[in-house]
Amino acid sequence: MESEIRVRFAPSPTGYLHVGSLRTALYNYLYARKVKGKFILRIEDTDQARYVEGAVENLIETLNQVGLEYDEGPDIGGNYGPYFQSQRTEIYGKYADELIEKDAAYFCFCTSEDLEIMREEQIAKGEDTRYDGRCRKLSKEQVQENLDQGKPYVIRAKIPKEGEIVFFDIVREKVSIMWETVDDQVLIKSDGFPTYHLANVIDDHLMKITHVIRGEEWLSSVPKHLFLYNAFGWKPPKMCHLPLLLNPDKSKLSKRQGDVAVEDFLKKGYLPEALLNFVALLGWHSKSDKELYSLEELEKEFSLKRINKSGSVFDIEKLNWMNGHYLRELESGYVAIKARPFFIKAGFDINDNEKYLKIIEVVRNRISTLSEITKVAAPFYETIKYSEEDKQIINNENSQRLFSFWLKNIQVLDIITEENINRLLKQSTDELGIKGKDLYFPLRLALFGSVHGPELPVIFDVLGKEEVLGRLSKMLD
Ligand code: GLU
Repeated sequence: MESEIRVRFAPSPTGYLHVGSLRTALYNYLYARKVKGKFILRIEDTDQARYVEGAVENLIETLNQVGLEYDEGPDIGGNYGPYFQSQRTEIYGKYADELIEKDAAYFCFCTSEDLEIMREEQIAKGEDTRYDGRCRKLSKEQVQENLDQGKPYVIRAKIPKEGEIVFFDIVREKVSIMWETVDDQVLIKSDGFPTYHLANVIDDHLMKITHVIRGEEWLSSVPKHLFLYNAFGWKPPKMCHLPLLLNPDKSKLSKRQGDVAVEDFLKKGYLPEALLNFVALLGWHSKSDKELYSLEELEKEFSLKRINKSGSVFDIEKLNWMNGHYLRELESGYVAIKARPFFIKAGFDINDNEKYLKIIEVVRNRISTLSEITKVAAPFYETIKYSEEDKQIINNENSQRLFSFWLKNIQVLDIITEENINRLLKQSTDELGIKGKDLYFPLRLALFGSVHGPELPVIFDVLGKEEVLGRLSKMLD
């Protein structure tokens, strides 16, 4: 029987969640759901120098916000914990010793000055810079002597120097890499902490990870990892490296050319639904040309086989389009909840919930991100300021006749209905001879502050009788 499929998202907490990492997390999540396996969150925080206060909390919070639930993880536990690498350091030391015993790793006593000189010499000779393996040659006695003297050391992998390694990657298929291009990777640093490579391999093994799904930038690490699996005598997981994310100019997606932090996208008013849908298509395509997917649909459709080989361009216009789609299509009550912080920040009084919901219904069709929502909704909440051009329209004789007519007729209405408004529009033409732009522009200006905007019955409905009367009478002053 095929054992349970277990995948993991293994971020190093850098302080924010990169959109590329969101994609990695999403693909792991989707694959686990698709095959009814387990999705694990493991925090790779062994690099003490890179410790960022609050980074883990922030990461977990962001995953929660977008709705990527994991089955095991630091905050929820599981059978293979702890899920923080910083809490597993004892485990790594033991395995590093095992590698030394098996002659798959060695102590290296080179100082940072030694390494710097080595580097400079290699650069001067036009060679690739890497560790030249000089401590490989130390005898057992020399090593012991150095250790006894308390000399600082690192532990390095004894990577083969000749031949090539061939492995299979689900996306890249057959990959071969010459061993001579692979460095004698440091496994245990001088502070006693493991490097990513050692901890990652040990944990993937101990956590029974069956598939490693991660960004392409890790492909070149696979030989080091397979070397370790082999040295330990462990079966390696299947490898699946996701294509690079690119800027529109085809350079590697970077902070410099725009936002990359998922938190920032959320803050700017992108909906989780849109972000997930967008990110899902950055490197994966379905059998059909369909582009809009809910998370549930993705869980059914996703397959590792349909991951693209070539890099995916991060097209913000497409994300905007998708976000606009979800703002229009999702339940308006949900959009209202998501929009609330933006209204509060703008200082709009949204206590009248009925009015607020009506406004959401109107304005959500006119934006692509929630950060634009208050600007579009502002005329419903704020006193309108008019330009000289607006004032000309307002003060023109026809407009003034129109305002008086509407003021008089609205006053006598019991309730404002679409029918009422349409009747009054028709009457304006029949009785006052005002039609087209001369009819719509002044009324919209009076009530919404702009000649273009929502349909008049909608504006009337949102504002309500009192507010309409107030705004119309101001026009006559
Ligand atoms: N900690 C690595 C990262 O931050 C994980 C890479 C992997 O998935 O093996 O991306």
